[in-house]
Formats: sequence, structure tokens, C-alpha cells
Amino acid sequence: MGSSTTLMGLAASPGIAVGRCWPVDQRKVKTPKRRIEQEEVQGELGRLRAALEAADEQLATVRRKVEELEGSEHTAIIDMHRMMLKDEMLLSEVRRLVRDDKVNAEWAVKRAVRKIKSAFSDIADEYFKERRADVDYVGERIIKNLMGEVVDLEEPPPDGSIVIAHDLSPADTALLLHERKVAAFVTDAGTKTSHTAIVARALEIPAVVGVGRISALADKGAWIIVDGQRGIVVLNPSPQERSDYDDARERWLAHERELMATRDLPATTVDGVSVRLAGNIEFAEEVKSLLDHGGEGVGLYRTEFLYMGRTDLPDEEEHYRNYRQVLEALAPRPVTIRTFDLGGDKLPTGARSHDENPALGLRALRYCLRHPDMFRLQLRGLLRASVHGNLRVMFPMVSGLGELRAAKRAFMESREELRREGIETRMPPVGIMVELPSAAVIADRLAKECEFLSIGTNDLIQYTMAIDRQNKDVAYLYRPLHLAVLRMLKFICEAGQAAGIPVSMCGEMAGDPLNVLVLLGLGLSELSMISASVPLVKRVLRAASAADGKRLLERLLELSAASDIEREVRAEMARKFPGLLENGARASPITG
Ligand code: PEP
Ligand code: MG
Repeated sequence: MGSSTTLMGLAASPGIAVGRCWPVDQRKVKTPKRRIEQEEVQGELGRLRAALEAADEQLATVRRKVEELEGSEHTAIIDMHRMMLKDEMLLSEVRRLVRDDKVNAEWAVKRAVRKIKSAFSDIADEYFKERRADVDYVGERIIKNLMGEVVDLEEPPPDGSIVIAHDLSPADTALLLHERKVAAFVTDAGTKTSHTAIVARALEIPAVVGVGRISALADKGAWIIVDGQRGIVVLNPSPQERSDYDDARERWLAHERELMATRDLPATTVDGVSVRLAGNIEFAEEVKSLLDHGGEGVGLYRTEFLYMGRTDLPDEEEHYRNYRQVLEALAPRPVTIRTFDLGGDKLPTGARSHDENPALGLRALRYCLRHPDMFRLQLRGLLRASVHGNLRVMFPMVSGLGELRAAKRAFMESREELRREGIETRMPPVGIMVELPSAAVIADRLAKECEFLSIGTNDLIQYTMAIDRQNKDVAYLYRPLHLAVLRMLKFICEAGQAAGIPVSMCGEMAGDPLNVLVLLGLGLSELSMISASVPLVKRVLRAASAADGKRLLERLLELSAASDIEREVRAEMARKFPGLLENGARASPITG
């Protein structure tokens, strides 16, 4: 047993787990290399055919299981892998290597995969980087079949174990986490917004991703602690550390249970101000968890995830069915569906960003307006679904009135088209995300031409502070309580109130219980956050007074430095809610 090592990664899914490591992808096969004789060529090609068929059957089985457990959303990536098994670019190269270079099928697959991957690696785009992993995955599957290895996770992780992997596909994650009682997982790769992290959050399994080298360090059966709230893992912890974290985990679980007990109570302050606590979702399957946590609707459905990890585009029918499912599951609660925030690193397969600076490029609404046929399919799907529940439609990344008007025009054109086709629709409220400084500064004008505003603090802070959201070196400048941000938030909220329209917040800032008084002070009508944050925010809000929030906000706006504002907020929250924040949000023994 080695000595205790603490590693930092990204906090992908909250919760604490203490258990033993179960590495799932360390069994990398060593590909055999052999020269073959001319007479063996046909035999090798026959073995290749059989391996491809076997791989396809295995994937079909995985797909069925995933569909049963997770619904059809998570099967797209498996479909893509199955298509890759039939990809001529790959297969003709493998056959050529067997025939001309006279190498065995395993080695031919390995070389063909390498060649395709190197073609992808010339493209400096996150999306294509991920596709390289897919080619690897498919190649390895064929090779293992050629070698007669049992490919699927034939040795299931024992209950309570902690899965360690270089990376996990969403399909692996769904199967592993659902069928087995896995306590947590840790990966070398990935980000908070990778599919895998999202599936983990939806299933409420603690996860730390982006750790860098965990799969090289963790031995099967070694003890490990996963703190999914702080993004910390402790490998080979001392007995004392284990017991500290066991206690922290018990506190966390007890606190969660206690919070859940009040989930159905109204989110109303002691002075009678009600705020809707809604959820941010990426997949329709997250609705159940949202309701379990007492969410009162969806404040942000990030529909671009419909496009992720697939080669084809969703058609109108798929949009319609997906939105209808979410609307019906939540009716009569409101569901705010955001049109695609595609672009930058979030692109459908085949599309490619040429932007030097993706965050400032052809993203979100700009991308949709540039691709009107694609946008139209989504708008028509939304409008058709509108009759099945309480829909609100929201446009992301609006920079000014021109874009808002163009988006509304496209929406009305789709509506008119459907009317002509005799299809019934209901006109939903249409709103915008305020997430660019330009939109914040003219929020008063924008508010006159839409029916609600929703503040996206993740991007608003990124663009205001000029910090790339993905760049950990400038993450210290991510300060929701910076005076520049607070002034903008105040202006946006007042603009909405003056126009008589609701203002919500759906950025991460809305889900931090420390911010509750400030958010009440701003007079927001809805806060939207990941499901797991709803109970604690509700607890704090129910004990808070909106009038106190207003007074605090006034004081904060008199201060200047972000650090002074943050100190004041912490002091006030500690005074007003002694113990409350420490128990829940700060359950871990390590303080950050
Ligand atoms: C935001 O920018 O705050 C937001 C909620 O949208 P996303 O995180 O999807 O960009
Ligand atoms: Mg955003």
C-alpha cells in the first residue's frame, strides 16, 4: 500500500464516497503483431468479419440495456460506435493492410485506427479530440474480439466500489452506475460538462473528473476517497483520513435526508416573498431527479445536448417527442426550453468550428440564425410540443435587439407554417438569456420586446471579466460578487421589473446557498440550478427575509473591492444562518 496522495480534479457530481478502487480500463490489450502468408489472407479477412459481427452484437446488447435503463437519449453514442464498425475508411484500410502488407488482422486494425486518429489530431477542436477517443474505443473492441477476449465488463465492480478509468463513455457510465451499486467514479479525462459528468449528476453518483493520472496510480482494491463537491480524491488514505471522510459522508447523507424532508414546502421567505426554485437539465431523464428534489419546473433545458455525440441531426419529430416528454412530465409546472447553444466546442459531428476564439465566435443564437433550416426544425418541434404543457422558449447569447427580433421572426414564421399545415400550437412566452454585457447594459430595451429575462451568470461573468470559462488559470477571477457583476445584475432585475416581466437566474450563481440573500435582494422571481442544489437553497430561502436581502444588497453596492463584498456576504450569512451552511455545503473535513 502506498502513502496517502491527494489529487485535485473537477467536481463533476456532488457527494462523498470512501471505497476501494475498481479500475475498468487498465486491461489494455497488447495487440499481437504477426506477418502472414498469402494463403492466410482470406482466413484473416474472415476472422475480421466475425469480429466485426461480434462487436456489433455486443454493442446492440449494450444499446438495449441502456435504452431500458436510460431511455433513448443515451443510445446515440452507441449508434455512432456501431456505425463506425461499418465505416469504409476504417475497413478498407484494414483489408488493404492484411492483403498488401500481409499483417495479421489485429495489427491491421491497430494501424488503421492510428492513421484515422492522426487525421483527426490535425484539427485543434475539442469535438474532434473526443472523436479520437471513439475511434480508439471501437478499434479496441474489434481487436479484443479478434483475440477472443470477452469484451464487456465481464467482471462487474463489486457493490460500493469506486470506478477508476481514463475516461468513460456515457454508455459505460449509464451501465456501470445503474446496474451496479457503484459508489463513485474518478477519471483522468473529462470536464464538468462532459456527458459522463452530466449522467453522473443525473444519477446522483459522486464523481471527480479531469484528475489527469488517476488511472495510472490507482491499484485495484486500493482505498480511495472521492469528494465530488470539491473535486478532491485521496488515494491510499490513512485510516484517520478514511474515518474523517466516513464521518463527513454520514453528515452529508444525514443532511441530504434532512433537506429532502422539507422539499415539498413552498420556497417562501419569512416575509412572504415566493421564489420559484427550478432545475437546469440537459437530458429528459433528469426530470425525475428534479421532482425528487422538489424542483418546481425547469428554468433551463440545455437542448444542445440533443446534438452531442451523434453523427446525424435530430429531426423535427425527435425535437417534438423530446420536448413533449419533458413538458408532460412536469405539467402544469413551467418548462423553459432554450434553443441550441451550439457552436464553439459544442458542434454536431461533421460540422467544424473555424473560430480562433470559439467563445467569441459563431455560437448559440448566432449559429442558429446562420443555419436557419436547422433552427427551423427545432422551432417547429417546440411549437408542436407547446400544446402538451407549460412551455417557455428562451434564446441564448442575445447581444442586442437585432438578434432578438430575428429570432422572434423565425419563430413566428414557423408558427405560421404550422398554422397553414393545420397543426395546432399554443404561443409560449418567449424570453432571452441575459449573458452578454451588451445585453445586460440594454436590458431595459430588450425587456420591452420579450416576455421574460433569464440571467446566465456563467457567461455573463466570463465575458464581463474576460476570463475563459474553461481555463483554470484564470478561474480565480470568476467572482459573482464583483461590483461590476452586481451592478449589472441590479440593472437587469430593475429593467425586468419596470417592464413588468419576470427575471430569473439560471447560471451557477443561483444554486449557491451563500448567495440567497443577495438574490432575494435583487428581487429575482425564479432561481434555476442543478436538482441537487434545490433542497439546500430552499432551506436557506425559507429562513431568510427578502427585506434583509435588500438591505444587504444596498450595503454591498456601497463597497468596492470584490473581496470586501464577499467578506460582507459571508459574515452576514454566518450571522443569519449559523451552522446551516457549514452542515450542508461544507461537509468535507478539508476546507478549501
Ligand atoms: C450561463 O451562461 O450562465 C448559462 C446558464 O448557460 P450555459 O452554462 O449553458 O452557457
Ligand atoms: Mg451561457
